[in-house]
Amino acid sequence: MYRISFLLILMYSTLNYAQEVSKERVITVLSKLASDEMKGREIGTPENDSAAIYIAKQFADNKLRYCIGDSYLVPFEYKGKTVYNVCGIKKGKSDKILAFTAHFDHIGTSENTEDKVFNGADDNASGVTTVIGLADFFKTEKPDFSMMFIAFNGEEKGMKGSKAISDLESLQSKYQNITALFNFEMVATVSKFGPNALYMTGDEFSDLDELFNGRAVNGLQIFPDPYLGQNLFYRSDNVSFVKKKIVAHSFSTVDMNTARHYHQLNDNLEIVNFDNLTQIINNMGKTFEKLTPENFKPTYNNKVDFN
Ligand SMILES: [Zn+2]
Repeated sequence: MYRISFLLILMYSTLNYAQEVSKERVITVLSKLASDEMKGREIGTPENDSAAIYIAKQFADNKLRYCIGDSYLVPFEYKGKTVYNVCGIKKGKSDKILAFTAHFDHIGTSENTEDKVFNGADDNASGVTTVIGLADFFKTEKPDFSMMFIAFNGEEKGMKGSKAISDLESLQSKYQNITALFNFEMVATVSKFGPNALYMTGDEFSDLDELFNGRAVNGLQIFPDPYLGQNLFYRSDNVSFVKKKIVAHSFSTVDMNTARHYHQLNDNLEIVNFDNLTQIINNMGKTFEKLTPENFKPTYNNKVDFN
């Protein structure tokens, strides 16, 4: 009897419970995206395609559904070339969607230094690793919310990818079901609020952070954006969805006053705090596990500018 119930519990737990993401996995994914072989993931390069294909492979391993057609790769045109966003969906118990996004492109290579590659470990291999980590986390679970995972291309050239995919006619019915969009942008370092914390751009425009923090586990906390003068809410990919009146914010840990690696050659693996990032991914996953369409309905107030 003991053995049978133990086996049943074991089976149940492997099929229906989320899986913690290991630090090794976080290191593997982030290191791959930020490796020299990716040559800075600049849009329009073969290495940018390689990064998209690598992300699509992770979505496939997590058994996500395609957002459109028969591929995770969603093409658009950039300067006469076909380039790709990457999009996958996890079906939950409800059609209501939480979207997790991050841009995967970076600024390529530099011509006149010893270190020729802008690895973009923080900007934004860290954000993409968070999106993949959340897909990993829910691999064997059917959450209450459905989930949409998107890696945007061309952010560095003016948010090209998020604009393209947000305007796709065939995805509008899905977008109408998005309850909230979490865009991860530079989450590799410990925030000025300490570990296990992020800040949210545009917190003055919605009650998302209050609702999230009310359910957050293990001390994870979202703080208001402390760099208000920099207008960050309107400067990242979330804004393509703000224009559709979807509650969409960016989440970051980077200290905009003291960081010296933004768009520099030293944005490489050495500046990544993998313990903190792993903790944030797992605590995010455990918090999203507790959110339902009934208990999580963030809304904008009338201060937000939709244009
Ligand atoms: Zn950047």
